[in-house]
Amino acid sequence: MLSSEYFSIQQKDKIVYIQMPILSATGLVNHCFSTRLGGVSSGSFESMNLGFDRGDKEENVRENYRLICDAIDINTDDLVFSSQVHEDKIVIVEKSDRGKGFTKENDLVGVDGLITNEKNVALVTSYADCVPLFFLDPVNKVIALTHAGWRGTVKKIGAKTVQMMGAHFGSKPEELLIAIGPSIGACCFEVSEDVKIEVEKMFNHDIIDKIVKKHQKNKYMVDLWTANEEVLLEVGIKKEHIQKTDICTMCHKEVLFSHRGTDGKRGSMVAIMALK
Ligand SMILES: [Zn+2]
Repeated sequence: MLSSEYFSIQQKDKIVYIQMPILSATGLVNHCFSTRLGGVSSGSFESMNLGFDRGDKEENVRENYRLICDAIDINTDDLVFSSQVHEDKIVIVEKSDRGKGFTKENDLVGVDGLITNEKNVALVTSYADCVPLFFLDPVNKVIALTHAGWRGTVKKIGAKTVQMMGAHFGSKPEELLIAIGPSIGACCFEVSEDVKIEVEKMFNHDIIDKIVKKHQKNKYMVDLWTANEEVLLEVGIKKEHIQKTDICTMCHKEVLFSHRGTDGKRGSMVAIMALK
């Protein structure tokens, strides 16, 4: 079973989900990162598949959303979905966007990050190895969810989210609380030379040794958690305001969906967050 030094593992009936204490402690948001457990899907989607695009039966995915949203006290009518493409486009969403990707067509095309300052607008981003970034400005009451795979990490989508929260809502970096959620860890994220070069370009020499380690000939292990933490520190986030994960999806593929761990035969997990 899953355990974490940094996250709280919650259970309601058979539904198991992860919460970030740094966010829960504020009392300002309902949120979760889902696991595979407690849903109705079967086979490679077993059982809490929250991806409509994976080949699962739509009715099962909808029932899974009903179950997970009920567990974290979110109304499914409030959901707004990203449409992730591993780029760095972030949009601000509001009440009129509710239902996009769930009960109505999603016109938020090519979006990897969502921001809102409105209550009862439930942001949704999906995962199966990439890094979920949760942002909360407890002063101005603004939230964001950003999907950072290695490409998004290299494009510093975390920093762009912070900058956009500041530009639109006056969020100050030193006041933001951020959780870096479960993803593929440095234990399992092996990359070839071309990815290593892209990652190296983005960080100073003194930092890069913490992020990229040589594994074997032309193969390297990349630590996306530390990479995202460094991106956030660079734009003024306080280290004590960043809750970094210790859960690797590929190491826990019985409990979490891992794209690499299953050769792509998998469902999707989601991060969900809404201001109360
Ligand atoms: Zn691992």
